[in-house]
Amino acid sequence: MNTRIDALSPSAPLRLYRWSTILTKLPLLWSWPRFPYLSLAVFTAPELWLVYQTLVPNASGLGRIKTRFATQVREVWLTIDDGPDPRTTPALLDRLDSHGAKAIFCLIGENVRRHPGLARQIAARGHEIGNHTDTHPLGFFWSSGPRRTAAEIDGCSKAVVEATGKTPRFFRSPAGIKNLFLFGILAERRMAYLGWSGRAREFGHSSPERPLRRLIRAVQPGAILLTHESGGNPRVPMSVIEGLLQHLSREGYRCVLPNSSEML
Ligand SMILES: [Zn+2]
Repeated sequence: MNTRIDALSPSAPLRLYRWSTILTKLPLLWSWPRFPYLSLAVFTAPELWLVYQTLVPNASGLGRIKTRFATQVREVWLTIDDGPDPRTTPALLDRLDSHGAKAIFCLIGENVRRHPGLARQIAARGHEIGNHTDTHPLGFFWSSGPRRTAAEIDGCSKAVVEATGKTPRFFRSPAGIKNLFLFGILAERRMAYLGWSGRAREFGHSSPERPLRRLIRAVQPGAILLTHESGGNPRVPMSVIEGLLQHLSREGYRCVLPNSSEML
């Protein structure tokens, strides 16, 4: 495992970052005393670029991010993050069935190990399972090195394979945070990075109205919609998903799954 990660070829963005750093910082030895403010701006530009690409969801300077899919008809991908959760997953599977909807469940590895039967049910009822890291490391994923990043991805995939027999094809990072090594590691595993075109942002809301309105505004053919099933009080996220499913049914939209050509 270590040999494989150590042999990881540097990604193009990493090379670009290194060269831009060298090329912008060396001339500053001359320019700083003459143009201090301009020099400071040039000095920090590569770091600001890197911080932007790492922390801003769907910023695609470091690698390819799927934020919508090609279709001419009323279809969307419904993605549901942070499960499985015994408080929500069984009811959610029933609601999806009653609407004839399929979803991409982006599961957390440690939740899968805790509830492997739920992960099995998700797969058995025809939904897609995505990799949402092993421990959902919101605080340090942006600064993780190649070993830690690979461990988060591989730990989750291993848990999903053990529970369902299927290997996740998609990766979604916690809150859309990336790091310099992520895309090279995903490419080695032939996994696609899954972004979104609209999200509910349910957390912190005591009623589903505003998050639901936000999601409904994002509905259009080829949209990738982000919801959650876990974390905090699940009542609001569950109502958001139910409201979204009703809206999609009324408007003649189908929740479909990616085919293999849409993976990358
Ligand atoms: Zn999450």
